[in-house]
Amino acid sequence: MKFGVVGAGQMGAGIAQVAAQSGFSVIVQDVKPEFLERGRATIQKSLAKLHEKGKLTETPDEIMGRIRFSTDLTDFADSDLVVEAIVENEAIKAELFRTLGGIVKAEGILASNTSSIPITALASVSGRPTQFIGMHFMNPVPLMALVEVIRGHSTSDETAQKVIQTAEQMGKTPLTCNDFPGFVSNRILMPMLNEAIQCVMEGVAEPEAIDGIMKLGMNHPMGPLTLADFIGLDTCLAIMEVLHKGLGDDKYRPSPLLRKMVQAGLLGRKSGEGFYKY
Ligand code: NAD
Repeated sequence: MKFGVVGAGQMGAGIAQVAAQSGFSVIVQDVKPEFLERGRATIQKSLAKLHEKGKLTETPDEIMGRIRFSTDLTDFADSDLVVEAIVENEAIKAELFRTLGGIVKAEGILASNTSSIPITALASVSGRPTQFIGMHFMNPVPLMALVEVIRGHSTSDETAQKVIQTAEQMGKTPLTCNDFPGFVSNRILMPMLNEAIQCVMEGVAEPEAIDGIMKLGMNHPMGPLTLADFIGLDTCLAIMEVLHKGLGDDKYRPSPLLRKMVQAGLLGRKSGEGFYKY
């Protein structure tokens, strides 16, 4: 399997790592060499940790040996499956898929790891809507079992089967849904995180208390504000905007506090501060 990943950020690095651990030959692309370097460092650190815990059947070097880093999209020409994990912005993703549609071999499958952007819209511009699908990995990819597989309007059964099989080969559990705003995971999760942020804004409780109540009271492994910081507040805002616009219901209105924090550059863990300091 020749596996491609576009974007070497939190998600792209994790997807590339798990693909390489599964024996696939992987190419990771990003726009600048320094972003690729950061991705490589993330993967090396994660593999070293797994190796220490005895969870790898090969050495980290053997697994790293199957990953190639590139700034050139034409390197995907021969890929069987290319998973996109770039910024959560429909126009930028559409531009990328328009380009990839002209590069990747005709029988290759294109997939998006988008959290919320319509798969059907991205499929249309790719020029290969039957071989287009959503492959939504969870963060952190090396540890989380689920892959939410999202069928666009025109996704073929053959494409869905191949992607389900690939996710299983990667040791994941694929579960399928249809293409509606936020799919299943974020349609249910994000309004909860947004409501927790609204509670902070209204002074219902301090962040630590909100997280504690949800952890101890609902048995959630992580409080909603900690989780929002972990996902990235910019990503949370982008997903709420998609739900709000796509479903046309004001119950999905992004909290003004979420908007303000993103404007202030407080994006959570990745920027060093969100609801908590890192
Ligand atoms: P990130 O900001 O960590 O990484 C994005 C990477 O994409 C960056 O390295 C950036 O340089 C690169 N990039 C941007 N435009 C590009 C382009 N045109 N071509 C190539 N590379 C480009 O973001 P992330 O958290 O890894 O999220 C990536 C995608 O995964 C988003 O669509 C997001 O919604 C989705 N996702 C995120 C999470 C999460 O918890 N963070 C979970 C599931 C899905």
